[in-house]
Amino acid sequence: MSTHSIPVIKNTNPKLPTFNMNEIAFGKNFTDHMLVADYENGEWKNVAIQPYAPFQVDPSSAVLHYGQTIFEGIKAFKNEKGEVVIFRPDQNFIRFNTSAARMEMPSVPEWIFMEGMKQLITLEKDWIPNKPDSSLYIRPFMVAMDPFLGVRPSQTYKFMIILGPSGAYHAAPMKILIEQHYTRATPGGVGFAKNGGNYGGSLYPVSLAQEKGYDQVLWTDAIEHKFVEEVGMMNVMFVIDGKVITPSIERGTVLKGVTRDSSITLLREMGYEVEERNLSVAEIVDAHKKGLFQEVFGVGTAAVVSYISKLAHGDYVMDFDVEALKVAPALKKHLNDLRMGNIVDKHGWLLHI
Ligand SMILES: *Cc1c(COP(=O)(O)O)cnc(C)c1O
Repeated sequence: MSTHSIPVIKNTNPKLPTFNMNEIAFGKNFTDHMLVADYENGEWKNVAIQPYAPFQVDPSSAVLHYGQTIFEGIKAFKNEKGEVVIFRPDQNFIRFNTSAARMEMPSVPEWIFMEGMKQLITLEKDWIPNKPDSSLYIRPFMVAMDPFLGVRPSQTYKFMIILGPSGAYHAAPMKILIEQHYTRATPGGVGFAKNGGNYGGSLYPVSLAQEKGYDQVLWTDAIEHKFVEEVGMMNVMFVIDGKVITPSIERGTVLKGVTRDSSITLLREMGYEVEERNLSVAEIVDAHKKGLFQEVFGVGTAAVVSYISKLAHGDYVMDFDVEALKVAPALKKHLNDLRMGNIVDKHGWLLHI
């Protein structure tokens, strides 16, 4: 892969020297360089690392009208020894091209995605905060560029990778409303892909839940709103009678999270029984009535493990004492220890830069 050398145009006016690493808000600050590549006439070209900057988009560009746009979210860490690692980017690369195929977009070659990411991060390594729970967030994305209003797959695309430092995520435990009307994903739809429209479409139901005093919704299946799927933009895990249960990805309505997959593996190694299957709201409520519903939490790259203190289904409210959680904090510690190099990476999940 390293046979490809990617030209670099250095930023002559970098922000890094004056950037305050103590005040980093997620998603607001970006590093001095970005990776760009253009798809034209059936091939990828103009692969380059250049100064972070806005770029021109024609008002008729396909992405602005019909939503051919996909993305990924990955994190790089700097451990106490100053070593830089990226957590399982190979999985994001595979998922990116799965999303591309569903959205009728071209696949991105491995060398552009992986080698481009490595070279960009090598250049920007001083942007990686080396504090506990801090990281460099990596956002690869692809957009359709054809200046044409006909509805058809675009013939030109832009692939880019941008980076932003991300501080410790001290989110309060979430209050969650089980969604009984709106839908995030449908069988045969695009829920398994990380395409822009999935996120745009989720904002309104979440706002309605926020008006009722909740932070997020727990999405349920599109047909009957009977089976649970995901919590907000995260995969969800339940602890019922000592067993961990997470919704199955089989129907294509649950995103195949890298954190979900890593958590299943780690939880099993920690001695927990983990089931991937359909889980109904009725089963959850029944377990709660019997005193067997112990924990519910979200898992995803951005927040790693998010605690949930309240889960409501209509008027039926289930409360959780976050101080008494066992599985979620143990999983969070394990994932963080692994990423910071405090424990042996026996699965080879860390890509060293
Ligand atoms: C990105 C995402 C996740 C989490 O996936 P990770 O690979 O763990 O970051 C879960 N659900 C949705 C809808 C997502 O977009």
